[in-house]
Amino acid sequence: MNKNIETQVKQTLKKIKLNKKEKILVALSGGKDSTVVAYLLKKFGYNIEGFHIDLGMGGYSQRCLTAVKQLCKQLDIKLHLYDIKSEMGSSMCYIRTAIQTEARGKGLKNCAICGVIKKWIINKEARKLKADKIATGHNLDDEAQTFLMNIFKGSPKLSANSGAITKNIADKKFITRIKPLFYVPEDEIREYSKKMKLPVVYEKCPCALDSYRIQIRQFMNTLTAKEKINIMKNFDGISEKIQKLKTDEKLEYCELCGEPSRNKICKMCQLVNIKK
Ligand code: AMP
Ligand code: ZN
Repeated sequence: MNKNIETQVKQTLKKIKLNKKEKILVALSGGKDSTVVAYLLKKFGYNIEGFHIDLGMGGYSQRCLTAVKQLCKQLDIKLHLYDIKSEMGSSMCYIRTAIQTEARGKGLKNCAICGVIKKWIINKEARKLKADKIATGHNLDDEAQTFLMNIFKGSPKLSANSGAITKNIADKKFITRIKPLFYVPEDEIREYSKKMKLPVVYEKCPCALDSYRIQIRQFMNTLTAKEKINIMKNFDGISEKIQKLKTDEKLEYCELCGEPSRNKICKMCQLVNIKK
């Protein structure tokens, strides 16, 4: 089993041509996926540092922070911390609720809001830290769920930027993101993290209430690992064609915060108004 996950990740890293000299910032949540990413990248000799956002969500966030600190100590890597309460003035719970109570955030799911905010922070901070790449823990189940959700929504175009490496236009303000676990099923990652006795918080985020994704996840849990891999093989097979659907797309800079965006106002600023 170990051979599988390690071989698979090595193959993925080869496919995306990851260089051992590049500085890779691993976005560490404290969960099993990003922990395994850091562990494997370090094991394979890549130049990594850790980055963790303390979301200020009570005991859960405290346990995540402890796990991340322990991991970085164990791997002997530098850890960069971003405390959302001191940087943005409130915890993620508060920011999210404030957004949801306003018209612009009505109907938005917790995970969607949190995801946009985290992505914005990670790109901005990775740039400040002069990272060449950002690595996240997205796994095969996450990616297959997203791919299926986009098909069910009738918007395969939304999958155009998916993949083990971001396919955006090169831009000095946008740090390329990589997903070393893109082809690894969640169960294998969980098992591997336990076998290697890695410091991991296994509990789910207390705010993860995205009902549509939960429904898709339940459906996906009825599939075998082979079937999940096949979903992504379909994705790989049509990926280039999907990309051609978004010919008019270009990366601009958000008029409010200056961060790279596909629209005049980035998704983050559509939710929270941040001035340059
Ligand atoms: P999620 O959006 O929670 O599914 O997380 C997706 C990926 O984002 C994880 O695998 C991590 O790489 C990264 N991530 C999530 N939460 C955090 C956090 N609090 N700090 C840093 N990175 C995170
Ligand atoms: Zn913006």
